Amino acid sequence: MSESNQNGAQMQNGAGAQVSKGGTEDTLHEVIVIGSGPAGWTAGLYAARANLEPLLITGDDFGGQVSITYEVENYPGFPEGLSGPDLVEKFKAQAERFGCTTSYDHVTEIVVDEHPFTVRTSQDKEYRTKSLILCTGARPRFLEVPGEQEYTGKGVSYCATCDGFFFRGKELVVVGGGDSALEEGLFLTKFATNVKVIHRRDELRASKILQDRALANDQIEFVWNAVVTSINGNENGVVSGVNTRDTLTGEQGELATDGVFVYIGHIPNNDLYHGKLDLDEDGHLIADPMTRTNIPGVFAAGEIADKVFKQVATSVGQGCAAAMQAEKFLASLEAVGLPDLNEDPRAWPTPGVPKQTADLVAAD
Ligand code: NAP
Repeated sequence: MSESNQNGAQMQNGAGAQVSKGGTEDTLHEVIVIGSGPAGWTAGLYAARANLEPLLITGDDFGGQVSITYEVENYPGFPEGLSGPDLVEKFKAQAERFGCTTSYDHVTEIVVDEHPFTVRTSQDKEYRTKSLILCTGARPRFLEVPGEQEYTGKGVSYCATCDGFFFRGKELVVVGGGDSALEEGLFLTKFATNVKVIHRRDELRASKILQDRALANDQIEFVWNAVVTSINGNENGVVSGVNTRDTLTGEQGELATDGVFVYIGHIPNNDLYHGKLDLDEDGHLIADPMTRTNIPGVFAAGEIADKVFKQVATSVGQGCAAAMQAEKFLASLEAVGLPDLNEDPRAWPTPGVPKQTADLVAAD
């Protein structure tokens, strides 16, 4: 297993290798953080500063969604903006500086019906931990139309930052009407001569500032009230066009394009949690404002539990809250022992939360 400590040194977790306490399998961990997006690193930072020696397991998609974002302009403290990967590196460096241990591994299973909890990984590691902070985020939603899978990597993409460069001087389609579609569509105009944004309504979901920028950009055209029904390729095996359907009239259409960038929302990365933790109808972990899931000692932060805000800034805040709650849980574990794992902590009275809010949370 590849790990790095606060000095960024890579270490092997083999016999005789030097590994900080936070990264060993034989340690009973105070807290393990799963996920390396903004929520995960912030949880790692706060847990480290609380001397909990957290182990953060990154997952296969290091940095999560922000790491495939070309530019982050709305994260406070960076008035000029910065790239998503740069921001992730800064989050990581700050967490490690205070003692968060990073493991570049992927969690395949958690066991939360017995305490200490168990975490198993794709590198056959098994960890035991007194508390868990789940920050597994979300992944792009697919169009699920013919040709999408076949042409992924051959003109179909979900990451303008990664693939935009390959479309210099080409014409592109972007699907979606939210912030991602417009932000990434604007980015793609650096390379493509023309970007057609296909949106299923005639009103954008995106924030006003992005709408204004996109509508003012003469390289961007909007195709309103339309959905993509298939993605087509040419004899070279790359994308050559899309078929569309008008959502009002049902009329079929066809558009020539060199590439299709899909931004139609996200699906929570919840594979680890089915049958183990409460999920809502969209698959988000159900956590209360204290970030508590239905199992005492298991907390959730960021887009895995957030169906409303989904911002870097809000994920950071939730990661911070989760680490503070984990610290409280560990202190009470020490003082009064383990609560019943079947007792839903979201129904516990919470100091500082008005009764009405607590009732709403309990009823959710
Ligand atoms: P989103 O806000 O959920 O928007 C998804 C868009 O895709 C919507 O316009 C939706 O149409 C459309 N859509 C959904 N399913 C579709 C389908 N099957 N076929 C065609 N169109 C479909 O997702 P997002 O843009 O990825 O943003 C996610 C969150 O991240 C949001 O909270 C957003 O504010 C945030 N974000 C913020 C920034 C920023 O602040 N700079 C940048 C990126 C993302 P409808 O509008 O008709 O539902």
